[in-house]
Amino acid sequence: MAAKRDYYEVLGVDRKAGAEDIKKAYRKLAKESHPDLHPNDKSAEARFKEINEANEILSDPQKRANYDQFGMDGPPMGGFGGFEGGGFGGFESIFDQLFGGMGGARTQSRRNAPMRGRDILVNMRIEFDEAAFGASKSFEFMRSELCDTCHGTGAKEGTQPVTCATCKGTGQVRSGGGFMVSVRTCPTCGGTGQTISDPCASCKGSGRVRRKRTANVTIPPGADDGQVFVMTGQGEPGQNGGPNGDLQIAITVKPHKLFRREGTTLYLEMPISFTQAALGATVDIPTLKGKATHKIPEGTQDGALLRVKGEGIQQLHGSSRGDLVVKVKVEIPKKLSEKQKELLRAFDQASTGREYENRRGFLDKVKELFQA
Ligand SMILES: [Zn+2]
Ligand SMILES: [Zn+2]
Repeated sequence: MAAKRDYYEVLGVDRKAGAEDIKKAYRKLAKESHPDLHPNDKSAEARFKEINEANEILSDPQKRANYDQFGMDGPPMGGFGGFEGGGFGGFESIFDQLFGGMGGARTQSRRNAPMRGRDILVNMRIEFDEAAFGASKSFEFMRSELCDTCHGTGAKEGTQPVTCATCKGTGQVRSGGGFMVSVRTCPTCGGTGQTISDPCASCKGSGRVRRKRTANVTIPPGADDGQVFVMTGQGEPGQNGGPNGDLQIAITVKPHKLFRREGTTLYLEMPISFTQAALGATVDIPTLKGKATHKIPEGTQDGALLRVKGEGIQQLHGSSRGDLVVKVKVEIPKKLSEKQKELLRAFDQASTGREYENRRGFLDKVKELFQA
């Protein structure tokens, strides 16, 4: 994931800004970039999320102090952290905070409200070629599903869950009186508002069973390491009529024996002999699909880059293809026969010194330095 921007910068406030200034800046920015005003705009959504994250930290004196002291990563032993895991409360709740809505009361009255099912994350390792050219992959995963026997109610066949007697179906109990009323989740029904007197045998009353499932995902050509493909609605079932979660497939691409990849550009390091480098040659360069023939010019230096057009990786969801960049590595032989050595000595005797441009320049500088 990309580096995060400084929270003060995100909200456009000074590091010494007071709580009121932060609140003002946040409200202004959040209203401007609210996703409801920018439907289908991914960048506005990302910005909105960023603004909220910044506000979450800077509006809390403890978190702000931590941030000021330790920066983005938080204190060494954990501390606040955890936005990635869903500390962000979702657009709806922020919308309520911003524009009034039900305010603090909402969390208490919505125990039985429809809730989206959980997402399931599957990690998948695929071959380098599968990412480059696309592939159809089947995989297994575990999913908690509504019990077929009781259809998710948790009650034995022919019976129904009944309204919880302790909380009268609200899912919460109140205790104390006057100023000291406290509200907590009902201990009898666990907050669902219903109890089951005769539990379903298949799911033991939970209404859910865990099953092993097989699914198929199509990896498009050009997929890359770290990408996540989402199969909407294939996650765990929602509660109280809420929608299903998603099935997310996170891709890890195995390294290739020869090639390295950056986006759509493919890199290859290829050794050539020192005679090929000096004399020039026509060489076969391996590509992902086969080989390409390429000319190495006379006098090619170690580290020189050759570009083979269109032999890189196809652009994801596009039609263009990147290039293959070959880094030439000139190999100096380590073991020579007497015959070879003789020939090289003869070669050296035929040399004037003008063949070695860099060496000549270097010697000239040394000479200047020591003449002074
Ligand atoms: Zn059941
Ligand atoms: Zn209850």
